[in-house]
Amino acid sequence: MEQLGLEGMPARLFSCTPSRLTTWLDCPRRYRFTYLDRPAPAKGPGWAHNSVGAAAHLALARWWDLPLPRRTPSAARGLLHDAWSTDGFSDGGQADRWKGYTGDMVARYVEEVDPEHEPRGIERTVAFKTATLAVSGRIDRVDDRGHELVVVDYKTGRSVLSEDDARGSLALALYALGVRRTFRGGCTVVELHHLPTGTVHRWEHSEESLQRHVGRAEAIAAEISAATDYPARPSTLCGWCDFVRVCPTGMAASGGPHKPWAGLAEELAPLDDEAA
Ligand code: SF4
Repeated sequence: MEQLGLEGMPARLFSCTPSRLTTWLDCPRRYRFTYLDRPAPAKGPGWAHNSVGAAAHLALARWWDLPLPRRTPSAARGLLHDAWSTDGFSDGGQADRWKGYTGDMVARYVEEVDPEHEPRGIERTVAFKTATLAVSGRIDRVDDRGHELVVVDYKTGRSVLSEDDARGSLALALYALGVRRTFRGGCTVVELHHLPTGTVHRWEHSEESLQRHVGRAEAIAAEISAATDYPARPSTLCGWCDFVRVCPTGMAASGGPHKPWAGLAEELAPLDDEAA
């Protein structure tokens, strides 16, 4: 139910995406740069690891647009090549090596996917409201597993993930609630599909755990709404911030921006069957 304002009118809901909320948690100054300052300060150059992630996501989304007989691993590799961007790589050789590797990664991933089992949604925007929030977000994939809908989030980074990442993710919990509202079906399971290792990290939420995430989201939004100041929250992670060049505090904390390709693994891990 929406809150009543002073004059009996519904209070205005705080509109947000999960990343808006987590950006605030990471650093209020970065929140200001990203969402408030207009024109926004110039960002640094694109990151190579983002080029990898964007191309893999696009290829996996477009794969489902192919007619059923063409949903093959080699088609996924071809779509990856079509979607490839060289932004952020040190040179053409590095970009080419990663293009080949990422193509193999998506091809291996779809080998484990049943091409006949159409997802309920691909790159789908979902939305729902709480007492104080209007939440929206775009989900990589929504699966219909027969008895319920499942949120699938692709990950392409080098960080090793675990079930805890799926359990603790504010975004995934809010997506599950968005799926319920948008698709009008049950949804408690969220999954992180880590493409480099071929692993799936799954968590089944309870009503209590979902409501805990909602409470957390509402508390963050209340903090943002009440904010009059947007202090820098420096850490060694500032070297990864798109705005570090315009943030003296972050520059001092991190020693400056990382190289655009620094987020890539130094060695390309073998994509063998064991890893899958
Ligand atoms: S560089 Fe660091 S302190 Fe500055 S805005 Fe980015 S995250 Fe915040």
